Amino acid sequence: MVLEVNKPKIVILGAGYAGLTTAVRLQKNIGTNEAEIILVNKNAYHYETTWLHEASAGTLHHDKVRYEISGVIDRHKVSFIQDSVVEIKKEDKKVILEKGELSYDYLVIAIGAVPETFGIKGLKEHAFSITNVNTARQIREHIEYQFATYANEEEKKQERITIVVGGAGFTGIEFLGELGNRIPELCKEYDVDFNHVKIICVEAAPTVLPGFDKELVDYAVATLQKKGVEFRIGQAIKECTPEGIVVAVGENETEEIKSATVVWAAGVRGSEIVENSGIETMRGRVKVNLDLRAPGEDNIFVIGDCALLINEEINRPYPPTAQIAMQQADTCAHNLIALVRNENKLATFEPDLKGSVCSLGHDDAIGLVFGKKIVGTKASFMKKMVDNRALYLIGGPQLVLKKGKFKVL
Ligand code: FAD
Ligand code: NAD
Repeated sequence: MVLEVNKPKIVILGAGYAGLTTAVRLQKNIGTNEAEIILVNKNAYHYETTWLHEASAGTLHHDKVRYEISGVIDRHKVSFIQDSVVEIKKEDKKVILEKGELSYDYLVIAIGAVPETFGIKGLKEHAFSITNVNTARQIREHIEYQFATYANEEEKKQERITIVVGGAGFTGIEFLGELGNRIPELCKEYDVDFNHVKIICVEAAPTVLPGFDKELVDYAVATLQKKGVEFRIGQAIKECTPEGIVVAVGENETEEIKSATVVWAAGVRGSEIVENSGIETMRGRVKVNLDLRAPGEDNIFVIGDCALLINEEINRPYPPTAQIAMQQADTCAHNLIALVRNENKLATFEPDLKGSVCSLGHDDAIGLVFGKKIVGTKASFMKKMVDNRALYLIGGPQLVLKKGKFKVL
């Protein structure tokens, strides 16, 4: 006789850093008799969002930035559903998927972020963004096509080999670093004179990497300028057109820059799915309680880029990072186990920030790690270690051996 046990159902939406880490922590620490765990993700694979600038520039093959989810989850403990979340109906404790629906007792929302376009005209239609494996492939192939076409056309169109990057935050700078390595290769491959190529970074703030250490910022700017990047600082992109961008250059003055490739890397926001769930959001992100539950919701956790957490010391949100997403997943898994076991005391989340490293290509970087400044190959090595650590925390040494970065220079 089989005993019917009424196990609570935990549904995790998204298998990025936050969702997949939660799933692997739960499968390790909770018994199959205690809860049913379901993980939902758009693709059958997880991708390293933090490596997408490399796939976008074409310095790393897109297959290197992803791995099969089935390789890291134990299917006896976690059921995986490949599907897209369409709607969260919290009143009915249900999630609507493209190909079905799911009920839940506990929900973890971890579907990441989307590009923030601030309502700027034409960006959604004409600009590229570094968001997932397929947008990365699109950027790489588009740039390559422009080089090939330029090489073959009689009347050369400068805009084909003019690349604009909107935003000099970490994403913009890391992408520019990769372009700095890739463009000379493309020039060689397609017989294009490197001196004719233009890489323009437009940043609205008065500095590159706003808020980061000035000495490190200066190092990054000098390095990228040497690789051919032109910076336009304190100039906001106002519009994107099929021909390029319109930039504010003075109080009432604008300038048009013709470019066939505009990559928008000017920040992220939460997804519309979270915004439409009935949970209060700010730019699509949920200001979570310290135990990572949504305000007023006993059974809904929101983690990773979907969550907004205020740094009380400076009264500003923590930046959305993989580092925080993975740490939140640990607390979230811990709290889910406590709830399933009817323990009332939940842990509060406290980020343990180890620092930031920003790559400037595969062989150079800047970093502020445990309060220490590092640059060059040392920083680049550190960045690869950080990348490998993320693999290790989800898939252990086997995943590091399979997907890790070992080439130092
Ligand atoms: P993600 O990792 O984006 O995962 C979200 C998952 O949800 C994806 O698998 C996606 O397919 C899935 N999904 C989305 N919508 C749906 C849906 N409707 N239905 C089903 N599934 C869905 N942070 C750092 O700490 N260090 C870095 O070095 C760093 N480098 C970065 C470099 C780049 C180029 C970029 C773009 C970001 C970088 N970040 C870095 C930020 C970091 O990547 C994010 O903060 C992190 O990915 C957030 O994790 P997440 O799990 O919330 O979202
Ligand atoms: P961001 O918000 O950090 O930077 C966006 C930049 O775009 C800002 O400097 C902003 O001034 C600029 N901008 C905004 N509107 C503009 C306009 N109209 N015209 C020109 N410039 C404009 O966003 P991001 O770089 O995409 O990073 C997103 C998150 O991911 C951040 O939390 C970041 O820390 C994290 N990240 C971390 C790393 C790393 O640690 N190595 C790498 C990439 C991203």
